[in-house]
Amino acid sequence: MAASPVPAPTNPSTGKHRVVVIGSGFGGLFGTKALRRSDVEVTMIAKTTHHLFQPLLYQVATGILSEGEIAPPTREILRSQSNAQVLLGEVTDIDLEARTVTSHVLGRPTVTAYDSLLVAAGAGQSYFGNDHFSEFAPGMKSIDDALELRGRIFGAFEMAELGAQRGENVDHLLTFVVVGAGPTGVEMAGQIAELAHRTLRRDFRAIETRSARVILADAAPQVLPPFGAKLGEKTKTELEKLGVEVMLGAMVTDVDERGLEVKYKDGRTERIQSVTKIWAAGVQASPIGKTLSEQTGAPLDRAGRIGVNPDLTLPGHPEVFVVGDMIALDNLPGVAQVAIQGAKYAAKEIDGRVKGKPAQEPFKYFDKGSMATISRFRAVAMIGKIRLTGFIAWLMWLAVHLVYITGFKNRVTAVLHWFVSFLGRGRSERTSTEQQIFGRNALSRLRGGATDLVSAPGSYEASRELLETTRRAELEAQAVEEARLTDAGQRGVKTGERV
Ligand SMILES: Cc1cc2nc3c(=O)[nH]c(=O)nc-3n(C[C@H](O)[C@H](O)[C@H](O)COP(=O)(O)OP(=O)(O)OC[C@H]3O[C@@H](n4cnc5c(N)ncnc54)[C@H](O)[C@@H]3O)c2cc1C
Repeated sequence: MAASPVPAPTNPSTGKHRVVVIGSGFGGLFGTKALRRSDVEVTMIAKTTHHLFQPLLYQVATGILSEGEIAPPTREILRSQSNAQVLLGEVTDIDLEARTVTSHVLGRPTVTAYDSLLVAAGAGQSYFGNDHFSEFAPGMKSIDDALELRGRIFGAFEMAELGAQRGENVDHLLTFVVVGAGPTGVEMAGQIAELAHRTLRRDFRAIETRSARVILADAAPQVLPPFGAKLGEKTKTELEKLGVEVMLGAMVTDVDERGLEVKYKDGRTERIQSVTKIWAAGVQASPIGKTLSEQTGAPLDRAGRIGVNPDLTLPGHPEVFVVGDMIALDNLPGVAQVAIQGAKYAAKEIDGRVKGKPAQEPFKYFDKGSMATISRFRAVAMIGKIRLTGFIAWLMWLAVHLVYITGFKNRVTAVLHWFVSFLGRGRSERTSTEQQIFGRNALSRLRGGATDLVSAPGSYEASRELLETTRRAELEAQAVEEARLTDAGQRGVKTGERV
């Protein structure tokens, strides 16, 4: 077996091999943790401060779990891993020749040098070239998305109650459309139906929440295609029992504030009046893949995934590994286990190189199975050739998700919340605000996003001194006046003076 190329350690001050990990998702976190015993320095750069357990985002959106339970701080998780540090920043460039990663936070750049690079930046939502749909139909990829959706879903019921009290037609407010009948779409549609039919039915006075329409639309001819025809059909039947209208062969051709248009295979079109639309239809790999492709010639597929070597490295760059949702290799699915196993493989290879060990066999994915919940106590699961449905599949779903939620504290509180929501009717996490609903669109209207809301580096220091001096004088004068009023007994009117 060929010996691994061992890049020389180049950190001038420590002499240690520097590993930069991009992303704190499944690939990034598991890759970093897998290097905990290696004689390397790991720097994890990610654009959020948390590790996100995406499979439970729909439960945050529908008020079952809090965002903290599925998004613990990366810094806390890695607290005791002394060879790892965490840097906040959105990676904007990678220079494969110079071996540097450039990241930005609020306009402030950071350049980090590496000897080995592990790229695990995942994927975002794809609107198939119709990015303007996103204004009215948020996706389900981040905590922001889930909280916005929570606000939109519960907000729609509130607006319907107000409208109904005025005697208005509120059908458009009580119609919820989920686009995309993959696992995320199925889980969202099932949970909104449970909200309308079970959780909220006694909370409102003017509207009957059970009359809400929940529509699951997909251009494909079946629900959950990766689960096969039989489980797809079973899931469709279960959803219909819950009151979900499943529209198949229905391609969404337009989305606006008040609704959307679908076109069927036979050419018929239909307008659905609906204020709350949820986009769960497609994924697009991180644009970092494009940067890497341009520098290496590695191909990109239609979803922006980059073709990697069988050992997950880039052509001509054995020091760069790409894992998870960003890669196109052997038709691997975009699931957490592909990212976790790929990252562990890359970490082992980096560790082996530092120790001078021979290269591993090519990466091989071990499929542990897939599952999706439909509603409380109902799920579908596929493990090898075994197909499970109903309560048994749901119990398996429960066990697997408990194992993978990060942190003991989060596991305990998630179980309590599931108890409240699945055995009772409650949803403990219904809090939502206008900022959650409108913040994303408001920020997107600023040319530089959040960067426009902070002072440019340097200008803050210049104006601060002046501001401090003026403000100090104001505060001192105010304190002297406050004390004088109290000492002189000049606050309010004395009892004897009342008229
Ligand atoms: C709603 C939903 C439900 C899902 N359900 C399941 C399920 O039930 N089972 C399953 O196996 N899989 C499921 N998946 C898929 C699974 O979550 C992904 O396959 C997995 O997260 C991929 O891991 P990753 O490390 O490649 O990317 P991610 O986990 O997405 O991590 C990407 C990381 O990169 C960071 N990042 C992105 N761009 C940059 C940048 N430019 N600079 C710095 N950091 C950046 C992100 O902040 C994030 O930390 C689901 C996905 C979604 C969205």
